[in-house]
Amino acid sequence: MKNQIYTFFLLLVSATCCLPIFSQNSFDDFLKGQPVIDMHLHITKGYDDNENYRHLNTDIDKAKLDWIIQDYRSNNVVLALGGGPLKYAKVYAKTDGLFWSGLIFPCMITVEQDQPCTKEFYSETELREIYKSGNFKSLGESMFNYYGIPPTDTRLEPYWKIAEEFNLPVGIHADSGPPVENVNKGEKPNYDPVFANPELLIPILKKHPKLKLYLMHYGGEYSEQSIQLMKAYPQIYCEISAVSMFMPKKVWEPNVKKLYSEGLGNRLMFASDYFGTVRKNMEIIYNLDWLSDQQKRDIYYNNAAQFLNLSKSEIESHHEKVN
Ligand SMILES: [Zn+2]
Repeated sequence: MKNQIYTFFLLLVSATCCLPIFSQNSFDDFLKGQPVIDMHLHITKGYDDNENYRHLNTDIDKAKLDWIIQDYRSNNVVLALGGGPLKYAKVYAKTDGLFWSGLIFPCMITVEQDQPCTKEFYSETELREIYKSGNFKSLGESMFNYYGIPPTDTRLEPYWKIAEEFNLPVGIHADSGPPVENVNKGEKPNYDPVFANPELLIPILKKHPKLKLYLMHYGGEYSEQSIQLMKAYPQIYCEISAVSMFMPKKVWEPNVKKLYSEGLGNRLMFASDYFGTVRKNMEIIYNLDWLSDQQKRDIYYNNAAQFLNLSKSEIESHHEKVN
């Protein structure tokens, strides 16, 4: 999700509906020794007018990266999956094991945040080369709904193929997202929310049965379709970013409860999506008072560790980092 007007409107809604109901001290205690994996980061260029990070480095791109690293360290985030344009995905891939980065797909020449987007669609050969040489370990977020094409568009086939070949976790934008009228027409003239319906992924999964997808923004409009897909494909996981931060709790919480009543709670992972909202998203999980402490810890770390097939030594080193 990337629309500012939509964000502003929904922030207003959330500000009036879901004030924190806990003490920061008990939350800090809970987080002691608790590693966190953020499954949804947007890798972008730095912005000169950003008050949070512009003072950190004369190179604004590095300043943004420095700020993200600081923010992750202070919130126990030991690993983040993030996609962006090739240039910046490469920079993050080189950063000390903190990021599993990759391409957003497709990037859009018209979208400011996607710059530099030198090529909207890569060929299979190009993608294989990029993933072989770039130390890239993930793919996503998918942007085909913003581009205005279904996942079955032939220009996307190389991405599914390479993701399966390299066993990449693929982040799929799977909520309807902002209404068409709220999206910047100059940037995304063909945006169509229906292409985010996860049912449309079925032909892709039939063709590439080992694809390791995770559904971003579970809990909104396509919750039922997401549940059906997750039941059919045990390797598919999900996260609730953006929906849980911007939509009223009464809309998304029943859908998260349903995930548990359907036996799929162990596939829910932590994710932030929006720059600077890691702590806020961690609080949202912590405030789900019907979850056990163990279930919250599973969301913060264990479910993602399982999904990503982390080794015993990787898991140990993540725990050491926060002790
Ligand atoms: Zn996103």
